[in-house]
Amino acid sequence: MKKKNLFLLLFIITVIWTLFTSIMNAENNTVDNNRIIDLRILETTDIHAALVNYDYYQTKTDNTIGLVKTSGLIHHARSEAVNSLLFDVGDHLKGNPLGEYLVRIKGIQKGKTHPVYRAFNYLKYDAITIGNHELNYGLKFLKTVLKGPKMPVVNANVYSAIENKPYFKPYVILKRTMVDKQGANHDINIGVIGFMPPQIMKWDKANLDGKVIARPIVETAKEYVPIMKAEGADIIIALAHTGIDSEPYHPETENAVYYLSDIQDIDVILAGHSHSIFPGNNFKDLPHANINEGKIKGKPVVMAGAFGSRLGIIDLQLEVNAGKWKVIKSTSFTRPIADENGNPLVETDKKLFRLIKPEHQETVDFLKKLGI
Ligand SMILES: [Zn+2]
Repeated sequence: MKKKNLFLLLFIITVIWTLFTSIMNAENNTVDNNRIIDLRILETTDIHAALVNYDYYQTKTDNTIGLVKTSGLIHHARSEAVNSLLFDVGDHLKGNPLGEYLVRIKGIQKGKTHPVYRAFNYLKYDAITIGNHELNYGLKFLKTVLKGPKMPVVNANVYSAIENKPYFKPYVILKRTMVDKQGANHDINIGVIGFMPPQIMKWDKANLDGKVIARPIVETAKEYVPIMKAEGADIIIALAHTGIDSEPYHPETENAVYYLSDIQDIDVILAGHSHSIFPGNNFKDLPHANINEGKIKGKPVVMAGAFGSRLGIIDLQLEVNAGKWKVIKSTSFTRPIADENGNPLVETDKKLFRLIKPEHQETVDFLKKLGI
């Protein structure tokens, strides 16, 4: 073949290839309908400073509690999923001698991260909310320790009493790239909003009076959800530090999940506060609940007990149509860290244990000194 002809042939091949790939790319951009994403949502709630599988009162190992155990479930659940997100639903700082020792004896030094938040940073939570017990040590303490978590901390229904605006960041829109069933990437906006019981104004009157006010959960949700949608949230997840109860709703309702599930644009509810397990037998008589699929009024809900005893999991299927993502299928369930006899079902996360060991050991030593 002459040199000239060879060049011509190469030129033609290049033109055809360029045309072909641009058509393929155009196809990828336009044929977006009916794409399906599997998204796994993971929940911890009501950890109550139970970082270690240890009972400080009985001074012995307790394999039914501890984030060092739940962590094993988190790693495993993540490894099974193509796309996953991890959230905590609050009441994580207080509830055992470790939590008390840090606040009342040692104190939180400026620039030092609270071991609970050190653990959350290590586990790479995507966002967290705070519970009523986070307010027990006062707002000043909370503001100091909240410098520790590297992920967004959201709560929408605690307002500043002085400025009449949210005291915390009310919601966040997480931008995540997710892989669909055919292996293509999609940028999805996950709206995350947090709530806690309005009863905080009674429970923590001394700490809160004149500084903050608590707004009703459902009314606050109804106000913020359209704002989040307008800001581009494809799906909305409620970090609801509130339990599940079908008693008629009123603005002071403490356990509001049942009524949050009525809000159309809330797609997923991660519940907490009452230390219950959902789905679970305790809720088998709850009206409009599907215990097999873990739904309330058709909405995926999960509540993972307390003290790290379980990991909450919601497996979602999202489908896109005309640029809109919709949950088309969901299954909620929880996985325990131990069996009914207290035997561990999961390895201790030794790396996490090493990260929090100093404060754990100091607490054990302090209790020993007291003769406990
Ligand atoms: Zn609570």
